[in-house]
Order: sequence, then structure tokens, then C-alpha cells
Amino acid sequence: MTKMFKIALPDGSVREMPEGSTPADVAAAIGPGLAKAALAAKVDGEVRDIMRPFERDSNLALITSRDEKDALELVRHDFAHVLAEAVQNIFPGTQITFGPATEDGFYYDFAPAPGRGPFTDEDLPAIEEEMRRVIAANKPLVREVWDRERVRQFFVDHGETFKAEWVMELPEGEPITMYKTGHGEADWIDLCRGPHLASTGKLDPNAFKLTRVSGAYWRGDPKNPMLSRIYGTAWLNRKQLDAHLVRLEEAAKRDHRKIGQEMDLFHLQSEAHGSVFWHPNGYIVWRQLEAYMRRRLDAAGYEEVKTPQLMDARQWERSGHWGKYRENMFIVPDEIPHASDEEEDDKPILSGEADLMALKPMNCPAHVLIFNQGIKSYRDLPLRLAEFGCCHRNEPHGALHGILRVRQFTQDDAHIFVREDQLVEEVVAFCDLLDSVYRDLGFDSYAIKLALRPDKRFGSDEMWDWSEQSLRDAVAAAGRNTEEFGWEELPGEGAFYAPKLEFHLSDAIGRTWQVGTIQTDTVLPERLDASYIGEDGAKHRPVMLHRAIIGTFERFIGILIEHYAGKFPLWLAPVQAVVTTIVSDADDYARDVAAKLAQRGIRVDTDLRNEKINYKVREHSLKKVPLLLVVGKREAEEGTVAIRRLGSEERQLVMSVDEAISMIVEEAIAPDLKR
Ligand SMILES: [Zn+2]
Ligand SMILES: [Zn+2]
Repeated sequence: MTKMFKIALPDGSVREMPEGSTPADVAAAIGPGLAKAALAAKVDGEVRDIMRPFERDSNLALITSRDEKDALELVRHDFAHVLAEAVQNIFPGTQITFGPATEDGFYYDFAPAPGRGPFTDEDLPAIEEEMRRVIAANKPLVREVWDRERVRQFFVDHGETFKAEWVMELPEGEPITMYKTGHGEADWIDLCRGPHLASTGKLDPNAFKLTRVSGAYWRGDPKNPMLSRIYGTAWLNRKQLDAHLVRLEEAAKRDHRKIGQEMDLFHLQSEAHGSVFWHPNGYIVWRQLEAYMRRRLDAAGYEEVKTPQLMDARQWERSGHWGKYRENMFIVPDEIPHASDEEEDDKPILSGEADLMALKPMNCPAHVLIFNQGIKSYRDLPLRLAEFGCCHRNEPHGALHGILRVRQFTQDDAHIFVREDQLVEEVVAFCDLLDSVYRDLGFDSYAIKLALRPDKRFGSDEMWDWSEQSLRDAVAAAGRNTEEFGWEELPGEGAFYAPKLEFHLSDAIGRTWQVGTIQTDTVLPERLDASYIGEDGAKHRPVMLHRAIIGTFERFIGILIEHYAGKFPLWLAPVQAVVTTIVSDADDYARDVAAKLAQRGIRVDTDLRNEKINYKVREHSLKKVPLLLVVGKREAEEGTVAIRRLGSEERQLVMSVDEAISMIVEEAIAPDLKR
């Protein structure tokens, strides 16, 4: 008798399927529509090939293109295989290595055939065409289980030395899956964990584009051979691809590095990898943002502190950073070599007590050290210590990106020490403050996510239950555990010591940026022995909340630049207005108007050059100056100015100087000061 498996579907129904049947059979039994739409299957929570037979009684959910996240990942991985096959078809002798799905597509790393140089952008159109041919051939993707030696021999026979090397590092005795693309005799084969779609024909040939080529070391190690990495973007259909390409184009126009240069905001150079040189214009934006944040924190009951850049290694050992974080820290000797010329001894002099120090990668331990000064009582809590803390993290050069990913950064950091009974209230207050800050800074939409306990973690399950539930309760109490706020829980994504709330901003072109965070921490207070005297006269541990709203100034200003495409609201704009002349007769008048504006605190320049007015307008609009005050002979006589707004199609507005000044002064007030 055939063995039957019970297959439970999401609607609660159960189907009896004979041994050997697959999720595709279940889809077909339900109906031809589903059979066509089903791309893969979730069997007991694991995404699998739709043609892979059931092994036991199972829970089954069929994946269609409506399950966008899973579908995209599957499709992108399929495209990677199709890319690799296409490359080997056109360029025999090319070796394959790895090719995963990425956030918007896929890549594959190749070792070009001996004698052939790395791939270039010029190769991409031909490869795309070959990929379309592979898709049109509608080849099945077939999963096979091999043993390790057979896999190794196969790759050796085919001259695939990288794959042959890799497979020997997989544990012996464990079944290894190979995916064949093709009918009967394998057209093409790759070592792969899968899963995949049933055939290449499931891919939309117009939903992908190869985007670029770069170098990448075999297994990411500079000691290994350099490979050629071909990137592509891939989607479920052409419409999605087109929308993505428009987004990329828009993002390139807004690139903060390009706008930063046009507006003369900052620069970077290799003598200070990952540290920003802020120019006067850029630092004005920083100062406005910092002043704004400081006002908001002051009003919310925070106390600002400043803590040392360098602390000795033993302190970092106590806080646990030396063990976990050392490779990201910049370490310096406590005392430098003695420059004495008399002594024969010019060895470095290091004190015995504190021989190494490290630049702080975070401010947390220093804030606990402040908390630990003097005896704290339950009445002192919550204690909110804020610091615009400059930190250093030793990120590899390759990870750095403009001012978005740097090595020296300044956080809008704060640590709130609370009693357990104050935690929910304090997190609610934080959510409200953050909401108001984001809106003031021009972001109306953001998502809140709760990152839950990871597998590897400190602390008891009770502690995690309590911390997670507290954060959940706080978001509910703040009324933000809703779809509007993109509320979502992310299992396994919390820090090893605590769950955290993440706040993801959406920018003007729909990209998201995680900036804000708040985490509950009971580990660091324990490690550094922080305590307060409770109402009962006994010692208690405070809970420590790590929180940031804008994250870091560097990255956030980068986000602001891209969000506004450099067209900052008036209160943030480095140069708020330029008074410019049509004729030189009006020079004195222009200077006079500018002086009056400057006196009222407006950041104003004059442009009295003998150039055509259209030329001047173009130049200042490239520099994103929000207001241009144009004056000529008539304006000088009548005591008026003609105002042109950046990016406005409307005709310029003529008004008296006094009217103009009060309008500009009013508009330049920071949002929190207008309330
Ligand atoms: Zn694969
Ligand atoms: Zn912290």
C-alpha cells in the first residue's frame, strides 16, 4: 500500500497525498490557477522547491508572486544561476564560484578564463542576451543530492578549481545538493543549497538588468585571487524593474557626495579615511541640527555631559568591549616613545598600570561611570544623560561610503537610567519626542520595528520576556503599534544583551533608513556595578536605556541632503539668501539690504559681480540657495526687492525691504521655536 502523508494547508484543511508527491501536486489538486501561480513552497516554515517531494506529514504554504519577499529572493537566486550559465556559454573556460541574491538583485563571482582579463561593462549586453535565451528555453531546475567526493570529482573534471576547493570544506557525510539547469543531460550544473523555481521559464526576461562589474577577492580575502563580480538587479516583472531604475536614477541625482561638492559642504580624503572634513557651509547645517537637538533634549529633561575620547584598556575590558569589540577599536599606547637624546634608552615608555588605551567606539560605559559617582536614590531616577558623543570605529576601507558610513562620527546619544516601574513611561516619552523630531526635520513617514531575542544572548528568559513585553507595551501606549507606523516584530534580530526598537525613516524617494533606536539593557549596569537605593533602603540595579533619535550627525546630514536633494528648509540652509544686482548702480543698495538681513540673524551673501542675471541665478540655484533677492535701479529707488525662490516656477515677488525681511526672518525660525 502506498504510504500517505497528511499535508496541512494554511486554511486549516488537510490533504492526504501519496508518498512521492510534491507541493506542485497539491497546487494542481487545488486548481489550475494556483498550479500556474505557485513558485515555491514553504514546508514546515522552510522555503523549498515546488517539485521536491514531501518526506513526512507537513504544513504547507504555497508561495506565489504575492508573497513578494520570498518570491523576490527565489527569483534573484535563479537569475544568478542563469547569469552564470550564460557567462560560461559565451566565455568557455570561465570558472564559477558564488552567486547569491542581494537586496535588489543578485551577483555572481567569476574567475575569467586564463589569458582573458576581467569582465567589463562592455560584456554585459551580450551576457544579458544569452540570459534571455536561457530563460526562453524554459529549462527545469532540478535538485539532486550527491555525496561530497562525487561533487569534488565532478568539479575537478570540469576544471572548476574554486568549487572543488569549496566543497571539501563542507562537512563530510552530509548530503550536498546540486542544481541542474536543463532537460535530461545536464546543460549546466551548480553546487547550491537552493531552493529554486521549477524552471527558468518562470522568470520574466524583461525584469532584470545587469548593472556593473567589480573586482572581488575569492572568499573576500585579499591574499586570494581577484575575481570578476557581475551585478544585476532583478524583479518579478518589468514594472517593478522600471520603477527601480527610476529610483536609482533619482538617487544618483541626489547623491550626497555630489551635492556636498556642489554646495561646498564637506570633503573626504584618503589621509583621513572615513573622517569628514566639514567645510563652513556644511558645518552650519551641523550647528543648526545640533542646536535644534540640544533644545529638544533640554526641554525633555535630559542633562548633557561630555566624556573622554580615550579610556584605558582595562575599562573597556570591564565593560566587555575589549573582548567583543576590539577589532573595531582604535588602540593607542598610553605614553609615546621618549624623545630624549641623552638617554641611550629610546624604547617606548609605557606605564605599567595602563599600557594601552582605546578611542571610544561608544559612549555607554562612560555614562555609567558618571552615574556611579555618588549614591543614587530611587528619587533620582529617571536620570537622562545625553552626549553629542564623538566616537571612532575601525571600519574596513571598503565598507566606508561618503558621509553615510564613516569611522569618526558623532552620535546624538543618551542613556536613561530607570527603575523597572518607569520603563514603559520613559519609552513612551521617547517615542513622542522622536516622532516630533522626525516631523520637524521633514520626515512624515517612518516604521517602528521590535527586534526580538537572538539565539546567542546574555540574560535569563524572564529578563527577555519582560524587556520585550515592556517595549511592546510602550509602543502600544504611544498608539504606534499600527500599520500606519509599519509596526512589525523581527524575531532573532535583537542585540545580544537586549531587545530594541528600531525606527526606519522613509525619504522623499521611498528609500528607508534606520536611524533611531532604543534598547533596554540590564547587562552593562550589572557589569559596571551601577546601583541605586530603593524605597526599601536596599540596593537595586537600574535598567539602562540606550537611545538615539538621529543616530549620527554625519549619516543623518547625508540622509537630509539626499532627502531634500540639497534644497534644505530655510532654517537649515547654509546660505539662506543672496542679494544680487542687475546693474552696478544698485551695489550700495544691495549691500545695505544684506546688512539689514544679517543684523536679523539671516545667513546672507551678496553677489555684485558684473555678470548677466540669468547666469547668477543659475549658479546660485546649483548651490541650492533658497532665496535670491534681485535688486536693480528701480528697486533701489523704491526701497523694494524682487524675491526668487529656489525651484519655484512662479514669477518673482516684489515687496518692500521691511516686508521681505520680516517674511524671511519668520520663515527661518527653527520649527521647534515656532510652536
Ligand atoms: Zn544557487
Ligand atoms: Zn549606549
